[in-house]
Amino acid sequence: MAETVGPGSPVTVLPGIGPVSQEALAAAGMETVQDLLDCFPVSYRDYTSPRTLSEADSEPHLYKAVLRRPPRGNWVRGGLHILSLDVADEDGSTWASVRIFNQPYLAAAIQAADCIYLDGTARQVEGRLTFSAPAVLTKLPAEGIVPVYRRLPGLSPARHRRAVKAALSMLASDDPYSSFFQERYRLLSRGQAYRAVHAPRTMAEQELGRYRFAFESGLVSTRMLDLAGAEQTAENTRIIAAGSRIHDFEQSLPFTLTGAQKKVIAEIAADLEGTCMMNRLVEGDVGSGKTVAAFFAMYAAAADGFQSYLLAPTEVLASQHAASARRLLGSDKVVLVTGSMSAAERTAAARRIRSGEAPYIIGTHALLHGEERPPRPALLVTDEQHRFGVRQRRTLLGDNGEMHALSLSATPIPRSLALAVGGMSRISVLDELPPGRLSVETRMVGRNKISDMYAFMAEHARSGEQAFIVCPLVESADGSSLHSAEQVYTELCSRFPDVRFGLLHGRMPAAEKQSAMEEFRTGRTAVLVATTVVEVGVDVPAATLMIIHDADRFGLAQLHQLRGRVGRGQSRAWCFLTSASAQARSRLSVLCRTQNGFEIAEADMQERGAGEVLGLRQHGRGPDVVDIRDTAMLAAYREILDEMAADPRLRSDYIYTAERAAERLDGQRRDVGFN
Ligand code: ADP
Ligand code: MG
Repeated sequence: MAETVGPGSPVTVLPGIGPVSQEALAAAGMETVQDLLDCFPVSYRDYTSPRTLSEADSEPHLYKAVLRRPPRGNWVRGGLHILSLDVADEDGSTWASVRIFNQPYLAAAIQAADCIYLDGTARQVEGRLTFSAPAVLTKLPAEGIVPVYRRLPGLSPARHRRAVKAALSMLASDDPYSSFFQERYRLLSRGQAYRAVHAPRTMAEQELGRYRFAFESGLVSTRMLDLAGAEQTAENTRIIAAGSRIHDFEQSLPFTLTGAQKKVIAEIAADLEGTCMMNRLVEGDVGSGKTVAAFFAMYAAAADGFQSYLLAPTEVLASQHAASARRLLGSDKVVLVTGSMSAAERTAAARRIRSGEAPYIIGTHALLHGEERPPRPALLVTDEQHRFGVRQRRTLLGDNGEMHALSLSATPIPRSLALAVGGMSRISVLDELPPGRLSVETRMVGRNKISDMYAFMAEHARSGEQAFIVCPLVESADGSSLHSAEQVYTELCSRFPDVRFGLLHGRMPAAEKQSAMEEFRTGRTAVLVATTVVEVGVDVPAATLMIIHDADRFGLAQLHQLRGRVGRGQSRAWCFLTSASAQARSRLSVLCRTQNGFEIAEADMQERGAGEVLGLRQHGRGPDVVDIRDTAMLAAYREILDEMAADPRLRSDYIYTAERAAERLDGQRRDVGFN
């Protein structure tokens, strides 16, 4: 069957988008034609209604004027060319002087034109209206209004615009919302709205287009919040007598629990003994000991004859968990299931799962696809749970949530946000690190200090410590000054031949990735140059140095996560954030001030808006419509949803909205664990 080209196709189907542009778009989260359409212009250049000079104010605008005398050009000191124009309104009422630098060739075109357009700011200089270095046009673009997109390194604005234009022509004409719905709420159709946003004829049309998406997103987001806040209920709750097991569990550990761990374990025990299925999120910074809290739940379940699953996002993590479970819970009670196991190993594992002799079933996604099911499953623990969708977890949990669910996350939800959506009672917070953990000294590094920083790194590497270097790009892109992993790797290998470097990025085959990680974990490579694939929790206690290049390209919460990869061992740890911009350095300074993930999460939310933190808003898209602190706005959308639910003519629209909300909650990367 021939593949049809449409909004779901990769961006490379668009004219002018080759591998380099594709990478530039991918770095901004855009992979498909639809993604490109969902990235709205940040502003517009409006060429439809130029002003007269008499309307000048202190803002930048487009002006139309006529020439009063031939342009005069002069070369002055230092090879600078100045072209001076005297212009006026067509009726001769207002005059202005214009100075244009280093474009002598413009003179002829300007003289030949009937009128000219000045794009810039008019200032009063010695009582005379003056333009210094405006953009000068002799003809206006045919589009009238030209969209301005967020500048992406490696993609020229003209190319970006051309690709979007082609993308618009691929839009399907049908609309998921009925025409009754559209009329009722005075909305443009989807296709019209995309055109209005990306290729508006007037600025008013552009606003109508955005309104359509804002409205849709407001409905879906509100519905998501309702879904997220809904309590999970189940009829056949498996009650586990967990409270009475706490003491024995503590006694069995080789270390003393922190106060926070004790508190969380008590909360879990209360859930397991309650009349509803547990649905709890344990949040805590990297290294706060979330796994042990989860082990307690698994231990209590096993003591009552139940089996538990522990689902990890990568093989490395799954093996690490299996190893600690064997150490802390009993070596003969653990079964590990991963995708790279042989058929014979899988069969043996399946047998141990089915017989129930191994109550601790630990594995990766492979667990979801396996047929083997234990006799009395009662608990599903999901580590780094934002890596899994609701639907994936449901394969194990069953549609009605037939198991207790415990999720572990190192991405703290800002407290204010959790309170607002009413999920606070189901979140356990590990806000205390086990004793002996070191704080990570965090410093901002300007471009001119990068060389010193590398020297510092090499010195530490020579004395047996390890370092991560995280770059925003895999390979260098044209016109981009951002660091790429490949380029940094090559540069450092030749600069420090006595230090062993490794390379790790998402475009490498899985086997190579595994071996790069393994080489680093076992200390054979001293420095791992990587992209953000290192984000997921892997223990490398000898890693004491984290360098993040172009740190302003990352969110605060993500930087905090990355920093958490170091400082897990005994030696002093460092995190260096490089950035070319002084402004960015001040935005990131909160990371230098605090290690508290919750404080950083609050700052992150202030920066990005609550909607984005919750994953309500797609990357780069339009305005942040639903600010969950805006209760009046939420109430308004809720009212509309109620109205839709009650009106049979809006039935399909209601179902579509609800399904979109469920899907988004499911698929969102920053899944926050309310489901
Ligand atoms: P994370 O919260 O990042 O998942 P882990 O659960 O992996 O953290 O714990 C990190 C390390 O700290 C593990 O090696 C674990 O055995 C150890 N650990 C956990 N709790 C304590 C404690 N109370 N005292 C000492 N070490 C602990
Ligand atoms: Mg962990």
